[in-house]
Amino acid sequence: MGRNQIYCCICGSPFLEPGQSDDERGEWLARAVLVTTAHETDHGIELDIYWPQAPSGSYALDLGPNPPTELKRRVLRLDSEYSEHNQFKILESGATVSAFTVGAGSPTSTVTSGGTFYLAVHGVCNQLAEHFIDSRAEARDTFQIGPQDKISSIKQLWEVLYRRMPGSTPLNSEYILPEPHAYYGGRYCRNVYWEPSDDLEYGELLEENPSEIPNLTESILQNLQPASSEAPGDKLNKTNFNHQESNPKSEIVHNQDWWYDAFISKTLFPWLWDLDVKLIQKRRQEGNWDWKALGRQLSRVEIHTPSDETLNLPLGLRNRRRIWRLLEDARVDDIASDGRRYE
Ligand SMILES: [Zn+2]
Repeated sequence: MGRNQIYCCICGSPFLEPGQSDDERGEWLARAVLVTTAHETDHGIELDIYWPQAPSGSYALDLGPNPPTELKRRVLRLDSEYSEHNQFKILESGATVSAFTVGAGSPTSTVTSGGTFYLAVHGVCNQLAEHFIDSRAEARDTFQIGPQDKISSIKQLWEVLYRRMPGSTPLNSEYILPEPHAYYGGRYCRNVYWEPSDDLEYGELLEENPSEIPNLTESILQNLQPASSEAPGDKLNKTNFNHQESNPKSEIVHNQDWWYDAFISKTLFPWLWDLDVKLIQKRRQEGNWDWKALGRQLSRVEIHTPSDETLNLPLGLRNRRRIWRLLEDARVDDIASDGRRYE
């Protein structure tokens, strides 16, 4: 029997039932966070009610005729466990609800009425989003976001994600939100029956844990090469180097120390938040290394593809870079504004 599955709104990888993965490392695919919004009332916190927008066929939902003010609204993230096709058990309340549908848990909900609305993401992807937002200098706690802005709060992430939801009928047939880049991988195999073996290029990568990566630092350092020495016979390189040094208009050439510092301070690579700095410092003392070459290779966004041959990296780390790119590229109304949608 094949799978019957739905996909995470951040990474585009599937949810798996607990125990369905071939090994322990795949268990991250069963841990979910259901995301929705709520507002304060005189009687406590109430979930926001979302309404499909007219006319039928347009994207996005809205908060209905009497939306709560922004000041009273917040994003709720509820730890959950995936149980079977689009059924999530919320751990705190024990309630079972569906995602991607207005009026989850209410079978009488129709397109003409509003209801609660949950989006499902992996617990790990929720953590990645938090790391991404922490790396943004201009973080503000607001739902407001301009069309060119990168997300810098969980509220803005919600705004981007929920506006990708088609507002057309039927409202209960979605299993993944559309994403303008088809989630950078697995485009043609992302359907309710997909199995990793259906996509020889991306199948394995999509199910690799992007957060808990064994020997993360060692796996990057294995790509570090000795710096080329400036031997007397190496005249060409030396000439080029001198030229750049003596010409103030030429491109700024960062030295090995600059690249090393950028690497361990994580300013250049915030997606490597869990590097073992002590291990890197130890490696530095063991030789004369080409930190510049390593830094430049790590700067290439394409290293998230499994076919990349510039660096030898574990698939989990490539998957992390892929998800980080999805967060970097997320823009409000990126689906609704031009009607793009892949099938
Ligand atoms: Zn995910």
